[in-house]
Amino acid sequence: MLENYSWKSARKTFRSKKVALVPVGSMEQHGPHLPLGTDFFIAQALAESAARDTGAICTPGIPIGVSAHHRQFWGTLWVSPQTFRQYVYEAAIGLGYHGVGGIIFVNGHGGNLPSLQEISRNLRPEKLYSVVYQWWTDPSVIELLNRLFKSKGTHAGAMETAMVLAIRPELVDAASYDEAARGAAAEFGIKKFGAELPVDTVEFSESGATLDPREATVEAGKRIFQTALDSLKSFIDWLEKAKADDLESQAHRD
Ligand SMILES: [Zn+2]
Repeated sequence: MLENYSWKSARKTFRSKKVALVPVGSMEQHGPHLPLGTDFFIAQALAESAARDTGAICTPGIPIGVSAHHRQFWGTLWVSPQTFRQYVYEAAIGLGYHGVGGIIFVNGHGGNLPSLQEISRNLRPEKLYSVVYQWWTDPSVIELLNRLFKSKGTHAGAMETAMVLAIRPELVDAASYDEAARGAAAEFGIKKFGAELPVDTVEFSESGATLDPREATVEAGKRIFQTALDSLKSFIDWLEKAKADDLESQAHRD
């Protein structure tokens, strides 16, 4: 973890590794049964485990993201997309200054995705090839989730509850599962005529959750975590071995 290096040990690592992981989370409500740091804890745990296994550089997690749509639930914090983009972009530029060529944003919060994608596009002309890894959109994780749960949920449903059970079980309040399920939304957001409405979570979910957390188990969480970790490690390996020429944008066609 970058914060534990001295500048001398950082020099050695930056000279031998070209991929850095940046965990990105949120500080937002996750129903009455999960901690506000759910997305942060998951992103951080995945990135740290992958860094430990591969030797990749891993920065401290970014704890507060684009979460204004959860703000009516107590304790939720947020920054604007503009502030988030500027901050994360500049932190990435620092990694590039020390010789990093590839960055994987290990994202724990869907609301951060459009900003992280824009940052990635803006970093490419700076010779920084960055990509966003999200465990819940990973096809191998989706396949496992479909086998594990009848109702995997999205926000604060069974899949996120299982992940927190696997990494921070002491922070899960199982006594509130029923309350979460009773006030849960059937899906995240409201759509009309195919368009997503600009609503806040409180307008479609009384408990803040989506679907039912009650199928979650520690065992399921450990399997999801391991599957995501394997993918992330393959991703690191691919980026570490990629040639700079293959990652840079191409010149004018003839
Ligand atoms: Zn979440």
